Amino acid sequence: MTVSIRSFTKRGPGIVFIVSAPSGAGKTTLTREVLSSHPEMSLSVSCTTRAPREGETPGKDYHFVSETVFERRRAAGDFAEWAEVHGKLYGTPRRLLERRLRRGHDVLLDIDVQGARQIREHFASAVAIFVLPPSLDELRRRLAGRGTDAWKTIEQRWRNARHEIQEIRGYDYFIVNRDVDEAVKRLAAIIEAERLKVCRYIRKPK
Ligand code: 5GP
Repeated sequence: MTVSIRSFTKRGPGIVFIVSAPSGAGKTTLTREVLSSHPEMSLSVSCTTRAPREGETPGKDYHFVSETVFERRRAAGDFAEWAEVHGKLYGTPRRLLERRLRRGHDVLLDIDVQGARQIREHFASAVAIFVLPPSLDELRRRLAGRGTDAWKTIEQRWRNARHEIQEIRGYDYFIVNRDVDEAVKRLAAIIEAERLKVCRYIRKPK
C-alpha cells in the first residue's frame, strides 16, 4: 500500500493518556494545567463513592454517587475500569470515553494503578504516565499541608504511596514533580510526541 501525505493530515484516532500518582504528588494541579493548554483534550470525570472535598464541584471533579448506584452501574458494565482506592470505589464511565475516542478526541484519565492496568488490557495503545514526588518525605509534607484530610488518612495515603510506586514498571513514562511548570512542560511533550507516532496513522509493514 502506498503511503500518502493525506494519511497524516487527517485527525488520527483518539489516544487514552493515563496519569497516575500517589495522592499528594501534585497530579491534579498538573493535569488541570495541561488540560487548560490543550482544550482539544478532555478529562474523563470518574464516579466515586467518596464524599466531595471542599471546593470540589459535582460533575466537574467527580460524579459523587452512593454505593448502591455505583454497584448497579458496575454490574451493568458501565465502567471501563473500576477500583477500590483508600476504602472508596472509583470508576471510569465507559460510554463517554469510547464515544470521544471514536470521534478522534484524546482523553486523559486520572486513575490509580489498578485502573491503569485494566485500561491497558483493553486499550493497547494507551499511554501510561506516572507522576513521582521528589521524595517520600516531601510527599508526607505535601499530604499534611493540604489540610483536607484527617491524620489517619494522611498516614494511610503515605503508606499506600510506597506500594503504588512499585507499579511504575507497567508505565511508559515518569515525571518527577519537583516544579509544577517543568512537570507541565514534560507532560505536554509526552502528549505531543505520542500524537506524532507514525504507527498511530499507518500500520507498520510486516
Ligand atoms: P482522590 O480521592 O484523592 O481524588 O483520588 C484518590 C485516587 O483515586 C487517585 O489516585 C485517583 O487517581 C484515583 N482515581 C480517581 N478516579 C478514578 C477512577 O475512575 N478509577 C480508578 N481506578 N482510580 C481513580
